[in-house]
Amino acid sequence: MARYTGAVCRQCRREKLKLFLKGDRCYSDKCSFERRSYAPGQHGQARLRKVSDYALQLREKQKVRRIYGMLEGQFRRYFVEAERQRGVTGENLLRLLESRLDSVIYRLGFAGSRNQARHLLRHNHFLLNGHKVNIPSLQVKVGDVITVRDKSREIEVIKDSLAAMARRGVPSWLELNQEAFSGTVKTQPDRQELTMPIQEQLIVELYSK
Ligand code: SF4
Repeated sequence: MARYTGAVCRQCRREKLKLFLKGDRCYSDKCSFERRSYAPGQHGQARLRKVSDYALQLREKQKVRRIYGMLEGQFRRYFVEAERQRGVTGENLLRLLESRLDSVIYRLGFAGSRNQARHLLRHNHFLLNGHKVNIPSLQVKVGDVITVRDKSREIEVIKDSLAAMARRGVPSWLELNQEAFSGTVKTQPDRQELTMPIQEQLIVELYSK
């Protein structure tokens, strides 16, 4: 799958928000955004101009796309699916993104970032309902159980990430059994538990033009 290969922290600075893309570093004083919370590039500190509606919508889409580590085409396909589903399109979109297996693995604390979760998944370190799985985009369902494979439980990044979970916390729609290295999807993702400021309606407006 094609992916963004540029400087990761630059994305947070562009969105003027901590997107937590780098695991532990994001919680430390090494976080680039903590040190330089202005946009990257030559004009990053220039005075703010009046921002158009289109610019606001575009920034919101870029922000969410970056949080979930997606390129444009893939993100657009999620929007099309969200629109096709019943209910509020923006909320459907966020639910679809949160229900991705890589995102759930990150939320459960088996990885420090979604990117790391994707990498671990690709290397077959997880089971879904007892079966090997290596597809980051797979949609989890209520009742699904995700487990770290026995042979993978000594991997440092997994252990470190779990140890850091007290700081991050597990959303209430998931249940983590830390001793068993497993987690269960209790309900569908809850929009209210997305702690980042996301205005999904702006994305709907952008794509509906
Ligand atoms: Fe963003 Fe994390 Fe980099 Fe800070 S350390 S700028 S939160 S990716």
